[in-house]
Amino acid sequence: MFVTMRGSATEADVLAVKSRILAEGLTPYEHEGGNGLAIAVVGEIPPGRAELIDRLAGLSGVASVTPINRPFKLTSREFHPEDSVVRVLDAAIGDGSLTVMAGPCSVENRDMLFETADAVAAAGGTILRGGAFKPRTSPYSFQGLGIEALRYLAEARERTGLPVVTEVMEPNQVDIVAEYADILQIGARNMQNYSLLNAAGRVARPIMLKRGFGATIEELLMAAEYIVVAGNPNVILCERGIRTFETSMRNTMDLAAVPMLHRLSHLPVIVDPSHATGKRWLVPPLAMGGVAVGADGVMVEVHPNPDAALSDAEQQLDLGQFARLMATLIPIHEQLRNVDHAEVLGGHPGDVHG
Ligand code: PEP
Ligand code: MN
Repeated sequence: MFVTMRGSATEADVLAVKSRILAEGLTPYEHEGGNGLAIAVVGEIPPGRAELIDRLAGLSGVASVTPINRPFKLTSREFHPEDSVVRVLDAAIGDGSLTVMAGPCSVENRDMLFETADAVAAAGGTILRGGAFKPRTSPYSFQGLGIEALRYLAEARERTGLPVVTEVMEPNQVDIVAEYADILQIGARNMQNYSLLNAAGRVARPIMLKRGFGATIEELLMAAEYIVVAGNPNVILCERGIRTFETSMRNTMDLAAVPMLHRLSHLPVIVDPSHATGKRWLVPPLAMGGVAVGADGVMVEVHPNPDAALSDAEQQLDLGQFARLMATLIPIHEQLRNVDHAEVLGGHPGDVHG
């Protein structure tokens, strides 16, 4: 539930509401939005919820107390109706612009990273990606250059001005990765690594959280909730394909998850057609599809010589292919950015339960 304060509420009123929430054994979490100051009440609400609502509603300066009918609270649209915008260096994710995160699956050496970074920047990419610590299915596969790669990524940021995103696999890597990278990625395999989510909640860097391949949308949002409630509101969600009975592609890209996530949550949503499909030729159509269904951006793997890549060779675009994809995506985004899906239904917002 959350408490909405009246415009006329005093500082003392706000303090009294927060103290009461704490006295109930719960935690207050403030959000100043279009509807004024809202204070979420988070924690395990004890029996006697209706009485608690009455107690809070009776306090001075309180306009209303609204239950949140979802297990995720701080990440929900109900509590936070406006879109969240994540800002990092000169980039903004979720503000209506097209975010394009691109770069190699793995940072293999400095030259290939710089060559890719220059091409990504020249084509209009907004964020540079590159794996340093790689979660590989096989222990015999290339595991990434680790800290050496982090140093190259930081150099590539100096060179291009693009913020960098890279994966962090363990809680004890969070500080070192945050020292070099601008956005920390939590990969699909770690979406429910709760100690990593908690550590990500305590770092002063945005987090890109990828959907686990067996995770529902609600589980993804609950994982994001861990990060936000631990203190980090700057979370970007990423749909990167889920595992289904289909075997002709690496995963099944769940495009419907994009508008569903936007409906349920205020957090920005990125699609990753590279890992979703595992096939180079499927990346452009699915990137376009992601933008068409309203994603705030795409993540695409790009390599100067994909066939020789040390990881994910079949799905990486070469530099020319990436530039042509950008030339196609930008006008699609321009054309579709202001489409109001509800308007197609005659302004009907749709079934409130869905
Ligand atoms: C990646 O983006 O480098 C990656 C490993 O993706 P995922 O966690 O989605 O498999
Ligand atoms: Mn990859």
